[in-house]
Amino acid sequence: MQRVGKRVSSERRIPPTRKGRDHEIRARALREFAGLTSDDQRLDPFKLAHHARLMVIDFKQVQGVLSVETVTELLDNAKDSWSGGAASKVLPGGEKLIVLNPTHGRNRQRATLMEEICHVFLGHTASRLAIRKKDRNGNILARDYHADIEEEAYATGAAALVPFGGLREMIEKGKTAPEIAGHYGVSKPLVEYRLKVSRLWDEYTRKIFHVGS
Ligand SMILES: [Zn+2]
Repeated sequence: MQRVGKRVSSERRIPPTRKGRDHEIRARALREFAGLTSDDQRLDPFKLAHHARLMVIDFKQVQGVLSVETVTELLDNAKDSWSGGAASKVLPGGEKLIVLNPTHGRNRQRATLMEEICHVFLGHTASRLAIRKKDRNGNILARDYHADIEEEAYATGAAALVPFGGLREMIEKGKTAPEIAGHYGVSKPLVEYRLKVSRLWDEYTRKIFHVGS
């Protein structure tokens, strides 16, 4: 019998945990909405932002309305403690302004934007700012009461960027986290996060490090 490559059984495209399944199903809807037809395709959040009525503006465009001290703080001392921000006011046309940290690389910006898009699609209405306080070792210090909403948006966004089915197929082929990150245009930590929440970490490390073979 001929095997048809495109048709992957749904079980192979859905992670084993309940939370993982919930995030994956919403993420898949977002990918379909973006016009993607298979799990190995790269999602471009900058295109999708338009559909979520988010307008991504350059930091330079808001720089003028901020004090010199604030700009210095945001780009220097505090550059690692914020990833992006959404304006609380909606424009007359219904669009919302989003600013991404310009000191972050494109891969990180994509994940931040994807999270903001998920907040819109998941109907999170509370005012938010993607700021996370971190200690010197980079650990998140305080999680506010929006932690559940933040987790849902981040997890869904990450699943949309790196879908389970594609991730699984790539690790079965022996691809490394950096290779997978390059394929989807995301950071290596995001791929590692996806491997862990999708319960693919053990399979991944066995493949890469030949543990127990
Ligand atoms: Zn958020």
